[in-house]
Amino acid sequence: MQNRLFIEKAFLNGEFITFERTFSVVNPATGQAIGQLPDLTVENCREFIDVAHESWTSWRTTSIAERASILNRLFQLIEQHREELAQIMTLESGKPIQESRIEVAYANSFVEWFAEEAKRSYGQTIPTQDGKSRLQTIKQGVGPVAAITPWNFPLAMLTRKVAPALAAGCSVVLKPASQTPFTAIAFAKLSQEAGLPDGVFNLITSKDSKGIGEELATNEKIRKISFTGSTEVGRTLMQQASSTIKRISLELGGNAPFMVFKDANIDEAVKGAIAGKFRNAGQTCVAVNRFYIQAQVYDQFKDKLTAAVSQLKVGPGIEEDSQVGPLINQSGLEKVERHVQDAVNKGAQIEIGGQRINGLFYQPTVLSNVSRHASISFEETFGPICALFKFEHEEEAIQLANATPFGLAAYFYSQDVQQCFRVAEALEAGMVGINTGMVSNAAAPFGGVKQSGLGREGATQGLDEYLEVKYLNFGG
Ligand code: NAP
Repeated sequence: MQNRLFIEKAFLNGEFITFERTFSVVNPATGQAIGQLPDLTVENCREFIDVAHESWTSWRTTSIAERASILNRLFQLIEQHREELAQIMTLESGKPIQESRIEVAYANSFVEWFAEEAKRSYGQTIPTQDGKSRLQTIKQGVGPVAAITPWNFPLAMLTRKVAPALAAGCSVVLKPASQTPFTAIAFAKLSQEAGLPDGVFNLITSKDSKGIGEELATNEKIRKISFTGSTEVGRTLMQQASSTIKRISLELGGNAPFMVFKDANIDEAVKGAIAGKFRNAGQTCVAVNRFYIQAQVYDQFKDKLTAAVSQLKVGPGIEEDSQVGPLINQSGLEKVERHVQDAVNKGAQIEIGGQRINGLFYQPTVLSNVSRHASISFEETFGPICALFKFEHEEEAIQLANATPFGLAAYFYSQDVQQCFRVAEALEAGMVGINTGMVSNAAAPFGGVKQSGLGREGATQGLDEYLEVKYLNFGG
């Protein structure tokens, strides 16, 4: 590939490295291998951790102004290389090129945000109780951080962790998903060009995600682990991290409800539904999984949504007009097929779609009259399927929306102001979109409740995840 940021190496201590054993990365749109990468081992991982630990000593004492200026240079470089990054992202993840460009900009907004936010990591002066001592708090970086990221947002999930960690004076070992490591390696190259000192950011590539994950979660030199991915893996990492009482942030699976109340603006709700459902072919953690529509507007919403879905252009991400790309792999495709079949077996009607196209492509689908017992009503589908359920009353909708162990994003459409406050407050979710199908924003805290995770990314809270509060008592 003619792209200087496409590098088939891992990144350790400021150098791009090879290894005798490699693994292939495949383009999900074609099934073809696009490159080979070092299949590093747990033993190698210890070396990565040692390097991060050593470099932390100088990085933590580098001035905030210097750290911010390196991050600002990195921001500029990512801006300048937007297209190269987007091309790599589409090649390895399959997402439409238009979405990749948007993701690069979104990912970079975290670099910009945390470059600024680092300057505002304020402590406190606490009123003294005895009139003698002086009490203060300061905030300091937690130490070397391990970050593990998923394939569905190869750059944004990285910058949400790495940018605040670097801003806070922490060094990093990153393990990107083995399906989409090349975008992260391109980021490593740009971090080097931005002047990040050797060893402060390191990137390990491996097929042994279990072994590497365990080492990162249990190694004493790592002070914090930040993970985005499935709830199942998050649970394992949480158990492993308990052995060293590590700080932990988890951004896990979701099962977002999308409610349309009877006086909603239906055209706007349909636009929000398309935005909230079909980004990355439905493979986002905040993707709508369950549509609850009030009986009075059910048919109207169903017909308009079906018409909008019929307009979506499915195709390889690299084609400029593609709106829905392939699923990431065979097991992702099989899960989608299983959910549709199960819903149909339990009485759902297919309004549009419902079939695999070819390779890993699946038709954008609308299912109506879905049973509340269908798998799709309680499992995350991660595919381009809209499952429509009918409800009669507000309380019933809230109860259905909350009836899941997950609580990441939730959405609803209503023009009744009282109802907007009532429903927003009653939903068990970390983020609520009210009359919008999009919630992501670097300035706002992203994260979930219940089994969707711990901690927040972005916003002021996203920096605090990488800071410890130290209390100073000046006696006498
Ligand atoms: P996953 O299987 O949990 O993988 C995520 C990352 O963890 C990858 O880097 C993977 O490496 C690694 N991994 C896999 N098994 C591991 C183990 N035993 N120990 C340590 N690391 C391990 O998740 P996924 O299927 O790729 O991603 C989809 C899930 O992520 C969905 O549930 C989605 O909702 C969630 N997600 C959540 C957010 C959020 O912000 N809450 C954002 C995006 C995605 P390999 O790929 O190399 O195996």
